[in-house]
This record gives sequence, structure tokens and C-alpha cells, in this order.
Amino acid sequence: EAKRHEKENWFLFEQEMDREYSRRQRLKTDLRDAIQTQSLTLAYQPMFNPEGTRIVGAEALSRWNHPEFGPVSPAVYISLAEEMGIVGELSRSVIVQAVRTCMEWPEEMFVSVNLSAHDLGDRAIVSVISDALSESGLAPERLQVEVTEGGLMKDLATARAVLSELRKMGMTIAIDDFGTGYSSLSYLDLLPLNKVKIDRSFVSNLTEDPRKLKLLRGVVNLARELGLDIIVEGVETEAQLTLIRDNNCADLIQGYIFGAPMLSSAFEELAIRLCQSNKSMRKLSLSGR
Ligand code: C2E
Ligand code: MG
Ligand code: MG
Ligand code: MG
Repeated sequence: EAKRHEKENWFLFEQEMDREYSRRQRLKTDLRDAIQTQSLTLAYQPMFNPEGTRIVGAEALSRWNHPEFGPVSPAVYISLAEEMGIVGELSRSVIVQAVRTCMEWPEEMFVSVNLSAHDLGDRAIVSVISDALSESGLAPERLQVEVTEGGLMKDLATARAVLSELRKMGMTIAIDDFGTGYSSLSYLDLLPLNKVKIDRSFVSNLTEDPRKLKLLRGVVNLARELGLDIIVEGVETEAQLTLIRDNNCADLIQGYIFGAPMLSSAFEELAIRLCQSNKSMRKLSLSGR
């Protein structure tokens, strides 16, 4: 009887594995297609000044709405694309789309794109980016690239060379998800960085756990000592925001509290609305004098 049960369970397990496997295979085929037919889109998430009155830029985040499975997480399909060796094409289309879109925004705003591990291991990404910039006419100063520690670990020498070239061209380099990997501190010294994006995990228990605030303040001080700007990611609540502001822990804030990733049309509306209300505020304060 026990034996029979075991066999049955094994059978169910195998069935589950088969399903999982064929889903992955299906995703792989469809992903190749989606990239080729340019069916992937971008969402834009605003980055604000800590007061929340001004949009400084936006992060471009890849989106895939699978016709059958619905939205697939970029964390999932980007690693699939890496496995398949096609992430370079994905990155290229993200970059081209993002710089074109940024051209439509007020001039003081930048766009930030994520680069994958694979991109950083190949110097070809430099010309992909410079071609996209010259085709669109976007000033390099308005493009930021985000790199993660995982992406740097593979071939540090090449990653360093790539980032130095981008930096020389005028782009901004940010290290993403900072504080989640292990050799993070040495990267601060090894890479030509401008900004640090502090991971959401530093923010999530901020208001419950006093040690979290100490950690955050420590990381922020360290980065500031090195002349880096601080972006705090994943700010969701008023209480978190207040703590971050009162402790002067951010130059820029990105999180649901000020805006989730949105369609480019929605982002443009928001940007224009804020620009106008800032202008009318300036007018009010001038006329008040
Ligand atoms: P990331 O670069 O750290 O992006 C931030 C992620 O946090 C996004 O998830 C965003 O939607 C989410 N987020 C933003 N604010 C909040 C908040 O207040 N609360 C919570 N809980 N989450 C927030 P998303 O869009 O699912 O992207 C996940 C990851 O996928 C990104 O992490 C990035 O590593 C990768 N990714 C996305 N687009 C691209 C791309 O075009 N190229 C590459 N190479 N990677 C990408
Ligand atoms: Mg990012
Ligand atoms: Mg991040
Ligand atoms: Mg992330």
C-alpha cells in the first residue's frame, strides 16, 4: 500500500516536472518570437526628488504580456534570454525604445536602462548604445545605465572597460540593488560609478526595525563619502518616506508611493502635469513677493 502511494506521488511529481519543462520550452520559443516581432514593451517608473514635487527621470522596465500566460516577470524571461544567448537583442531594443521615448520628455529628465550580465561582458554594447544615441539625438547625459552585482561578477575587467567608456561618453552609471550581493563594497571602489540604487530590502522593515535605519544610514554615508548620489528604491509608505527624508538618506526616491511603472503615455501626462504645477507654484511665489 505504501509502495503504491509512493509510486503515485512519483507519477504526480513527474507530471508536474513535465508541465514545468514544457512551459519553459514554450516560453523560450515564444520569447524569441516576441523579441523578433518587437512585442516586448517598456514601462516607465518615475524617480522623484525626496519632497515628491519634481520628476528627475524614469527607469525603463521591460514588459512581456504573453498571449496565453499573461504578464511574465522580467526577472524570469531575462534570465531565459540570457540562457538562450539572445539577451543582447532584447537589450538593444530596450535601449533604442528608451532613448527615443526620452526625447519626448522635458529636457531636464533622464531615462535609466538596466543592463544584463551578458551585455557587460561584451564591448559591443558600447556601439549599440552610441548608435542608439546618435540615431535618436538624445544627449548622453540623459541616459543612465543600471548594473547589478551579479552582472559584474562574470568578467569584471570587461565590465569595467565598458562602463568606463560609457562614462567617458557622458552617461551616468548606477549600481542597482545595492546591498544584496556579497562583494558590493569593493565595487564602489572598482567601478566608475555616479550613483547607488539602494535595494528595497533596506526599506521594507525600516519603520519596524531600528537596526534597519542604522544600516541604511551607514550605507548612505559610505556612498556619499565616495561622492555618489543615492537613489532609494521600493519606498511604499508615508512612514518610510518620512524616515528617509528626516535622516537625509536619499537624493532620489523611486517607489509605489510616488508612482508604479506605467505606460509611456501615462508617464508623459504625469510629467507635464507636474511641470505645469511647478511653474504655477513658481509664479505664485514670485507674485507673492
Ligand atoms: P530592478 O531594476 O531593481 O527594478 C525595480 C523593480 O522593483 C521593478 O520590478 C519594479 O516594478 C519594482 N518596484 C518599484 N517600486 C516598487 C515598490 O515600491 N515596491 C515594490 N514591491 N516593488 C517596486 P520589475 O519591473 O518586475 O523588474 C524586476 C527586475 O527585472 C528589475 O529589477 C531588473 O533587474 C529586471 N529588468 C526589468 N527590465 C529589464 C530590462 O529591460 N533589461 C534587463 N537586463 N533587466 C530588466
Ligand atoms: Mg533597475
Ligand atoms: Mg533595483
Ligand atoms: Mg532587481
